[in-house]
Amino acid sequence: MAYKFIDNYREKGARKRLVKLLEKRGIEDKNVLKAIAKVPRHYFFDETFWGKAYEDIAFPIGDGQTISQPYTVAYQTELLHIEQGNKVLEIGTGSGYQTCILMELGAEVYTIERQRSLYERTIQVLPYMGYRPHFFYGDGSKGIEEHAPYDRILVTAGAPMVPEIMLKQLKIGGILVIPVGSEKEQKMMTILRVAEDDYERIELDTFRFVPLLGDEAW
Ligand code: SAM
Repeated sequence: MAYKFIDNYREKGARKRLVKLLEKRGIEDKNVLKAIAKVPRHYFFDETFWGKAYEDIAFPIGDGQTISQPYTVAYQTELLHIEQGNKVLEIGTGSGYQTCILMELGAEVYTIERQRSLYERTIQVLPYMGYRPHFFYGDGSKGIEEHAPYDRILVTAGAPMVPEIMLKQLKIGGILVIPVGSEKEQKMMTILRVAEDDYERIELDTFRFVPLLGDEAW
């Protein structure tokens, strides 16, 4: 894929319209909207498809994977309630767009991808754009034990259940956001670790994610 990093008036205008649309769809967190307004989503697309970059749709990024729909990115990010300096584990780097949004909110991001080609691409593209998260290649369905605990954990692929091992990597007061369900559709879940062995779970709207694959997943 040939990347080009030019952000001209056409893309800036389209990004503003996307932010307005997300507001209309119910995204309220001003900081999340500001981050969406800032990160050039078209940088993750081949120039041929720039016209699609600011539509509220998921889009193929190769290897059978997708860059998530902007609404989904905004929805999951809002649920995380990121605070400046939060240590965030993201499972499913994909294009890296969501990673940039998390970093715009002041998070220190640990991000893991199991598809080698996507991993190789993001380790080049993100630093070029000025984003330097901690990149990992491998199966994130087990979290990343060696860097735990995390303030927040975000899973960007659909899981069959909540991996117990992931819950244990949350700090007390930490939040996990994960879509859980069948391979066809999942309910968004937020899980707050209230105490060592006490978790509060909330089930929210239905989404359709690509499957989370791995030892603790499909
Ligand atoms: N957030 C991404 C973005 O903004 O482009 C989109 C993520 S895409 C919907 C889901 C990603 O999760 C895919 O890139 C997929 O390869 C990855 N994935 C699936 N199972 C995984 C696992 N066990 N560990 C790490 N990544 C995984």
